[in-house]
Amino acid sequence: MRLRSYLLHVATLSDSERQTLTAVCDALVPAYDDERPFFATGALAAGVPERVERLVGMLTDPHDRARLRLLLRVLGSRLASLVSIRRPSRFHGLPPEQRERLLATWAESSWRLPRTGFQALKRLVHVAYYCWPPRSGPHPAWPLVGYPGPLPQPEHGVAPLAAQTVDHDATIDCDVVVIGSGAGGGVVAGVLADLGRDVVILEQGPNPGAADMTQVEGDMLASLYLEHGLLMTQSGSMPVLAGSCVGGGTLINYTTSLPLPDAIRQSWDASSGLDLFSGSTFVEAVERVSARLDVNRLSSPGIRDQLLEQGCERLGWHVDAIPRNVTNCLEGAECGFCGYGCRHGAKNSTAVTYLADAVACGARLYPHCTVERIVIEAGVATGVRATVQHGDRPASLTVRAKRVVVAAGSIGTPALLLRSGVSNANIGRNLYLHPATAMTGVFNERVDPWTGSLQTRYSDEMGNLDAGFGTRFETAPVQFALVASGFGWGGSRAYREDVAKLGNMGLVGVLLRDRFTGRVKVTRSGHPKVHYDLSPYDARHARAGLMGAAKILAAAGAKEITSLHTPPARVTVRGDAWEDELQAAMDARGYRRSRMSYVSFHQMGTAAMGRDRRKAVVDEHGASHDVRHLYVADASTFPASSGVNPMLTIMAIADHVARRIHDRW
Ligand SMILES: Cc1cc2nc3c(=O)[nH]c(=O)nc-3n(C[C@H](O)[C@H](O)[C@H](O)COP(=O)(O)OP(=O)(O)OC[C@H]3O[C@@H](n4cnc5c(N)ncnc54)[C@H](O)[C@@H]3O)c2cc1C
Repeated sequence: MRLRSYLLHVATLSDSERQTLTAVCDALVPAYDDERPFFATGALAAGVPERVERLVGMLTDPHDRARLRLLLRVLGSRLASLVSIRRPSRFHGLPPEQRERLLATWAESSWRLPRTGFQALKRLVHVAYYCWPPRSGPHPAWPLVGYPGPLPQPEHGVAPLAAQTVDHDATIDCDVVVIGSGAGGGVVAGVLADLGRDVVILEQGPNPGAADMTQVEGDMLASLYLEHGLLMTQSGSMPVLAGSCVGGGTLINYTTSLPLPDAIRQSWDASSGLDLFSGSTFVEAVERVSARLDVNRLSSPGIRDQLLEQGCERLGWHVDAIPRNVTNCLEGAECGFCGYGCRHGAKNSTAVTYLADAVACGARLYPHCTVERIVIEAGVATGVRATVQHGDRPASLTVRAKRVVVAAGSIGTPALLLRSGVSNANIGRNLYLHPATAMTGVFNERVDPWTGSLQTRYSDEMGNLDAGFGTRFETAPVQFALVASGFGWGGSRAYREDVAKLGNMGLVGVLLRDRFTGRVKVTRSGHPKVHYDLSPYDARHARAGLMGAAKILAAAGAKEITSLHTPPARVTVRGDAWEDELQAAMDARGYRRSRMSYVSFHQMGTAAMGRDRRKAVVDEHGASHDVRHLYVADASTFPASSGVNPMLTIMAIADHVARRIHDRW
């Protein structure tokens, strides 16, 4: 009872916190009444403060809500204003230009806390402003850059999978219970059900069909992404994006299906004492999975990818087609929205492949079902306890199973193992995030970066900057969520100008293969916390990668190039001097914590495979070193970062683990 009232308490802002929040919204997105209609409706008229408050209420960990409220109290205090801009006034009482000046001192502060505090507020306010259409009338920004917003529903959209509902506390039995339905869990369920096992799949997220994929970015992030798309590293410097729905990451991901490079397969075996990855068992698993997903290189590049390709070719750099798990992909205007699910079912997520197979073989799928803990009796996993959220009434579900397979992703899996009392000191350690950032370039012609296939070209030119570590170049669809969280801030007017150029903007993404690790821990209530900071070593590769991305954009014809720093580093491409100018501007800002935008799309390694229990959580068949009949089959089993996009590798591991479970039954 006390916990419940605490949760309610921290979800509600006080009047003075609300006053500060409203003033911050007004400062970040003011209503401009000038010659350009852009931003004519500012944050206040668009109802942004109320929406931000709702987002704060959606933060799943009460500590995060409490921290945000504290941030608002500090920012709103006279002391903050006195220290920052030498005016002893509450934030909401400052004139508009002074509010913006105060925010700029926080954004560029040499102290980390004000910088990360600013970034957290900026992200919430911009997401709330750009990612939802207003209740009535056109969006204040979308039509002005030619962004269409959500497109009409297709006539024959993909249907949700047949699923179970639970409206009262229940206990069920099965052979295998699989926790999580993403890349790993989906494959385990499909393979084992096909081999005749009685499988139950428990997924904490929803079970969306086309009708639920509204393409309203804010709603899609809130419903299909882990922690409503709001999960950040503890230092507040990096959003951590992952799927949380039936299909997990495979429903919302960009379909890149690259195999693990040979050199990394060998290094994984060498570092973990295994002989799995460089042998034929793994190769065959990759082949089986690729066939089921229809991995092919047939996709033609949209404009973003054409620019990446042209830029690389003109520089004489490596560039190649990306293999993708799509069938009859439309490759058109709608494809840019597929990061919120493909309504046509052309993306071969586990929802339309392995899970559909599993359900067809009789497997039972429970969406909205969160596993609280694994039941372990005398060192043997015998089932799980879960809560099913059906409408407003939660029901408890106990599953008794002969085998338990955890595939809750690299954040959810270690959290569940720790909550369940599995005692292995490596759980949660060895976290890799593949930090991603980007450079943007403005072209004379339109790019409409929200259109075209998700990603179809990549470059490995800087993939090996040192000892197999480096960066890869890929593009990604630029919807407003990316603008809102990614674009740097150098004042509200400059930000508005950047947004206004969006229709002519190309983007080259820089994906780091990180060498140094972070850690997932759990709070006392069992909630996962992501501890990760970019190491100086990996930051050096980001520095090289950003200049590489700038060169690609310039070679492709970009006139202006901008980084995702706060404030942005920006150059006009003319002659040769621009490179030194850009490098100097970026170096002055730096490459670490909240100086620039990074995001993690790939989380790996927190329940790593390895022969030695002192260094690993599971063996080379995914079996726990500590608990019998307990397996892990997702990205958390990676011994190190994969360098390439991880989906295909996860699925191959899951295929291998599932077959091994069956063989040893
Ligand atoms: C926007 C985006 C684009 C991406 N693009 C690509 C790409 O193009 N190519 C690529 O290779 N990779 C891509 N990735 C990454 C890839 O999708 C993930 O690495 C992959 O899906 C991870 O697989 P997994 O099985 O480890 O976890 P997930 O696929 O994340 O599945 C874990 C599932 O477990 C559920 N879960 C967690 N905890 C519990 C619990 N306690 N009880 C019940 N259920 C639980 C979650 O809701 C989730 O659905 C992308 C990721 C994102 C976010």
